[in-house]
Amino acid sequence: MSIRAIVERCEDLYHDLDLGYVRDWKARHGAKAIGFMPVYVPRELIHAAGMLPVGIMGGADEVEIIRGDAYYQSYICHIPRSTIELGLAGKLACLDGMLFPAICDVIRNLSGMWQIMFPDRYVRYVDFPQSWVPAAYDFYRAELREMLHDLERLSGIEATTERLNRSIALYNDNRRALTELYDLRAEQPHRVPTSELYLLLRAGNVLEVSEHTALLQDYLGAARGTERPLRDNIRVVASGLFCEQPPLSMVRAMENSGCYIVDDDWVLGARYQHSETPQSHDPIRAIADSYMQDTVQTATRYVDDGHNGDYLVQQVRSRGAEGVIFAAASFCDPALLDRPMGARALTDAGIPYTAFTYSENTGQIQVIKEQAGTFADSIKLWGSV
Ligand code: SF4
Repeated sequence: MSIRAIVERCEDLYHDLDLGYVRDWKARHGAKAIGFMPVYVPRELIHAAGMLPVGIMGGADEVEIIRGDAYYQSYICHIPRSTIELGLAGKLACLDGMLFPAICDVIRNLSGMWQIMFPDRYVRYVDFPQSWVPAAYDFYRAELREMLHDLERLSGIEATTERLNRSIALYNDNRRALTELYDLRAEQPHRVPTSELYLLLRAGNVLEVSEHTALLQDYLGAARGTERPLRDNIRVVASGLFCEQPPLSMVRAMENSGCYIVDDDWVLGARYQHSETPQSHDPIRAIADSYMQDTVQTATRYVDDGHNGDYLVQQVRSRGAEGVIFAAASFCDPALLDRPMGARALTDAGIPYTAFTYSENTGQIQVIKEQAGTFADSIKLWGSV
């Protein structure tokens, strides 16, 4: 498959707010689908119970919010309102359940609203520990076992140890392919434009995991064999975009402003773990331990005082980046409350940064492009801002 064909397929999926792929998949397999909100849920459990995990990331700049605004204050982030709008318009009707991870008050409230709005659907608020003491391990394993029990009841399929280990293996394959993709972009960013990587990641929200892994591998093969011009761009890490996603036009504007994005945190749930989950006789314990011991640092996960920002500095160093672009969804509490700690860590390490906010339906693309472009020019001219 050519790069163009792969990217066109991913772009079609990105624009398909009616979830045509999910409807087809359900019809072909006679099975159910479970939606989940950002940042992370253990998709292996849904998969092992014979259902399709579907990542829901709002409506981008393609949904007019009419009824969704009535459910939330006008000043908060955009993703819950567009998700409600999609739900009320029947576009998420193919989802037999929804999981709401505990990342902020907004998502917690959305979970309650979903239960009221769609009483016939399965809804679960997934509570993640924010402490790493032994009791937290017990709590999270119990939480996962209870959720798996619910999922099995919903699908009528028992998630045996064998099935869970198979799902773990398939998601490990997927994480490996994504790691390769990120490594290739960091090494040779001109071969992997960020807008293409972003579309590939977004496709993973809906595609069945092995189909997505095959698509990533096809892309990697094609990207390695395709010459593209190397530009005089600076190398940056983009941070703060882990939940509400930027519109594709904003991603394109950032990379056309003179920046090679060599690492980022969008669609973070797919790359939440550093390494693979081991297959074992107790796969729930393995999945729980992977979350507790092996995940990336992000604003929705508690970090001990004094160390918030260490991971960002490490990302910059390991990717050979020259600066950081903080881009957070407007009024995103977790991202904006963490930003000062990240900024302080960068300042201490002598790493330049710039910062702005956006929303998924932002129309201020030119302003963002100019700001990112000025940041790139400053680094080229003076090495800092
Ligand atoms: S964008 Fe931020 S505040 Fe809004 S739902 Fe996501 S994490 Fe919560």
